[in-house]
Amino acid sequence: MTDLSLALREKLKTEFTLCNYKILEKQVSFDGTIKYLFDILDGNAIETVIMEYKHGRTICVSSQVGCKMGCKFCASTGIEFIRNLSSGEIVEQLLAVEKNLGIKISNVVFMGIGEPLDNFDNVMKAVEIINNPKGLEIGARHISISTCGIVPKIYEIADMDLQCTLSISLHEANNEKRSAMMPINNRYNIEELMKACRYYIEKTNKRISFEYALAKDNNDNEKDAEELVKLLKGMLCHVNLIPINKIQDGKFSKSTNENIIKFRDYLNSKGIVATIRRELGSDIDAACGQLRRKRGEKN
Ligand code: SAH
Repeated sequence: MTDLSLALREKLKTEFTLCNYKILEKQVSFDGTIKYLFDILDGNAIETVIMEYKHGRTICVSSQVGCKMGCKFCASTGIEFIRNLSSGEIVEQLLAVEKNLGIKISNVVFMGIGEPLDNFDNVMKAVEIINNPKGLEIGARHISISTCGIVPKIYEIADMDLQCTLSISLHEANNEKRSAMMPINNRYNIEELMKACRYYIEKTNKRISFEYALAKDNNDNEKDAEELVKLLKGMLCHVNLIPINKIQDGKFSKSTNENIIKFRDYLNSKGIVATIRRELGSDIDAACGQLRRKRGEKN
């Protein structure tokens, strides 16, 4: 850009990067879901998924290269954590997909690889860019942030008056069982997590979405449903039931359809709104929890 002054070119070079992901792999599922493996230009690769719903196209973005949380049922577990993604690298996932498909994305979920609240500042900055009319102009209500339960950050979000949806990966209503599934529960247990959630609801008047991945003979029987009802009774919330996806060497396997429906009906009968998440992209390892960081490490 020799039409710019040398000083300006130097400034641009030191203060900005042009981020233009290379597509390493692109897989298309029979249900229309597409999974990308992007080369993020430093030798690392991340995965991004795009799904089509009646209400528009939803992108599932990664927030970190790897994850430190160690949830036992998740494919990101057991892979070394490399680094946080910058806000630009998060936003670039949307731009790269929009450009490649020639589409406009309408919804964003922070449910790819990584724990968004463990990369708080960059994720919040990315949300601002995605939401801003001078940025991607996607309404805050169309952006969901999902966390395994980093309690202090939930308080911070509550005080920020953010209009995004907050999803909590709960998966268990019992401390002993949740700790066995999700190490974060040893740091912030269910009582502390629920206290933060109640504070969030009180401050924002917004409904929380609780994710509950149903694993056969682990958290899918009547007693589990009863404990969950006790925990959530009277709360402004919604329960998203996910048929758990078995990962390689994982000890958790999917509940039967019959149990999943029974579980949902029980919650609904007790006044707790629960829906079953439609499974998308399972044939390309793009369903919940199946994303892996590197090529050659797929299930
Ligand atoms: N770290 C964040 C976001 C990434 S995971 C979080 O924990 O919320 C996005 C969702 O997929 C979470 O609810 C997570 O618990 C769920 N998930 C992970 N592995 C899964 C699997 N094998 N089957 C079903 N859901 C899974």
